[in-house]
Amino acid sequence: MKKRAQALAIGTREDTIMLDKAPDGKVSDLLSALDKALSAGEVEHAVDLFQVDCYWRDLVTFTWNIKTMEGRDQVRDMLKVRLADTKPSNWKIAEGEDASEADGVTESWIQFETEVARGFGHIRLKDGRIWTLLTTMSELKGHEEPVGFDRPMGAKHGAERNRKTWKEEREAEAAELGYSRQPYCVIIGGGQGGIALGARLRQLNVPTIIIEKNERPGDSWRKRYKSLCLHDPVWYDHLPYLPFPRNWPVFSPKDKIGDWLEMYTKVMELNYWGSTECIKASYDEKSQEWTVVVERDGKEVVLKPQQLVLATGMSAKANMPKFEGMDIFKGDQHHSSHHPGPDKYKNKQAVVIGSNNSAHDICAALWEAGADVTMVQRSTTHIVKSDSLMELGLASLYSEQAVQAGMTTAKADLIFASLPYKILHEFQIPVYNAIRERDADFYKRLEKAGFLLDYGDDDSGLFMKYLRRGSGYYIDVGASELIANGSIKLKSGVDVEKLTEHSVILSDGTELPADLVVYATGYGSMNGWAADLISREVANKVGKVWGLGSDTTKDPGPWEGEQRNMWKPTQQEALWFHGGNLHQSRHYSQFLSLQLKARMEGIPTPVYGLQEVHHPG
Ligand SMILES: Cc1cc2nc3c(=O)[nH]c(=O)nc-3n(C[C@H](O)[C@H](O)[C@H](O)COP(=O)(O)OP(=O)(O)OC[C@H]3O[C@@H](n4cnc5c(N)ncnc54)[C@H](O)[C@@H]3O)c2cc1C
Repeated sequence: MKKRAQALAIGTREDTIMLDKAPDGKVSDLLSALDKALSAGEVEHAVDLFQVDCYWRDLVTFTWNIKTMEGRDQVRDMLKVRLADTKPSNWKIAEGEDASEADGVTESWIQFETEVARGFGHIRLKDGRIWTLLTTMSELKGHEEPVGFDRPMGAKHGAERNRKTWKEEREAEAAELGYSRQPYCVIIGGGQGGIALGARLRQLNVPTIIIEKNERPGDSWRKRYKSLCLHDPVWYDHLPYLPFPRNWPVFSPKDKIGDWLEMYTKVMELNYWGSTECIKASYDEKSQEWTVVVERDGKEVVLKPQQLVLATGMSAKANMPKFEGMDIFKGDQHHSSHHPGPDKYKNKQAVVIGSNNSAHDICAALWEAGADVTMVQRSTTHIVKSDSLMELGLASLYSEQAVQAGMTTAKADLIFASLPYKILHEFQIPVYNAIRERDADFYKRLEKAGFLLDYGDDDSGLFMKYLRRGSGYYIDVGASELIANGSIKLKSGVDVEKLTEHSVILSDGTELPADLVVYATGYGSMNGWAADLISREVANKVGKVWGLGSDTTKDPGPWEGEQRNMWKPTQQEALWFHGGNLHQSRHYSQFLSLQLKARMEGIPTPVYGLQEVHHPG
């Protein structure tokens, strides 16, 4: 039996908070004090339970938004607006969990309820007060997913004339949805993002159609360059509901992940319209309905959903540069997203413009096929060796060791989510310092070959670069060695001046003879999709998509605290953006699906702190 210490005394900031000495007791006491203050509507008492430098990240439960409150003032402001409606209760250490303590921080998994939902979260205490709090929505009361005891029966026992089989019912649904019956939600883009969200909406019984211009689910991976394998390891990549089997390779080859997505789409019973392109979409504020024009197998179909999700990919809108002479160049030239692979370039001269992931992968594959390859690096790039990233960056959450130690995918996602963006770089800098030390010789040899390195503007490495700008790095799986030893030639610190019929001329006057030019020049913001499919006006109203406002390269301030426009309400009613890497698609599809479900069910969803737009698209 744990000894309970004196009850928590809450009052003004000057009051002493008396806490149980054991971690469980400390957290329980704090949570019951929070419960009491929130139930009584005593905002000041609740705020007093937080540290001065506190962070409360809320995924939909209080704010109907994805929002981090930074500091007591922001916590107070949010509670003043949202507490009365939210009616939180039953705060406790999550069932089956124990609090733990290390380095002066006590932490625990927690559970709680609101008037309309059940929540799960994570708390960290310092000096007896809340340092970080994560509150996430698990399920809407009365609209739970049919799992466990509630799983569908499948068979229909008994006897019934003219009964339909499961297959006939599925076929009937597929035939009527979008024609005689409108979906509540349309997702444009059937890559892993659209598929994961579609699976969640299916479980929540939200009628949804996924529109994909490629023929088959998984084609967005299949169509990428031949040598591509996922850069992230399997533990990071699971889809909702259906984890990869334990014998799945660590780094999935692109065609294998394509097949998995195709299988997943089928078994999760998604209404997936392949070979269908969205041509345009517009929103009628009066009827609160979208008109989405799509071309399905050559025929125009008009859909009328209430919610529209753009899951068109943040690595899908190719940034194609414009250089003088591209029109007269006689060789092959294409963006990296259209690179067919190296097979026909044996003994040919290839120039790859760019120095991030795609550029490295493509250079290495061309070299393997016997091409003479030059990489053109304009500015610095962050390189991290895959095994170092796995061991020092990911192992505690996403690795076989983590699984062995009892870490689940859901918990790993929530721990990652519990680290506030404002201070995330502080956790990352030591990791990349350690990587720099461990791989010092590797970095030295790359620099000696002329490669321009960076480690992020503030040395915080790959994850921060990804969250801030979604570019600027290569996870090394072998190409760096080819650069270091000169097998892949390098021209760095230069730009392309122009192309001639048979060469690329660089800004320092160098002429590189070329049979092939690959523009590995990255991808544009998802905002561009809104401009293409809806209107420039709506794209500007919604503003830039992605980035944190960190005021670092390609992520201009002011500070936003969350990723712009992703998975949360935007300035355009009923328009949502979804995507990111497999981890993000898995994790955030939960919160986007719950926001959509709540709207479908008519549950009030007053959005707190709708993001302002500082950068039009
Ligand atoms: C070379 C490379 C390597 C990568 N490696 C990894 C990795 O290891 N791990 C990882 O998690 N991520 C990786 N990524 C990022 C990767 O892009 C995303 O994880 C993934 O593709 C995103 O999925 P998505 O569904 O958001 O977008 P996409 O897969 O890009 O899917 C968007 C879909 O929208 C469709 N679409 C667009 N416009 C329309 C329209 N008008 N009508 C109908 N359909 C439309 C497209 O055809 C496409 O299929 C990599 C990306 C690249 C380019």
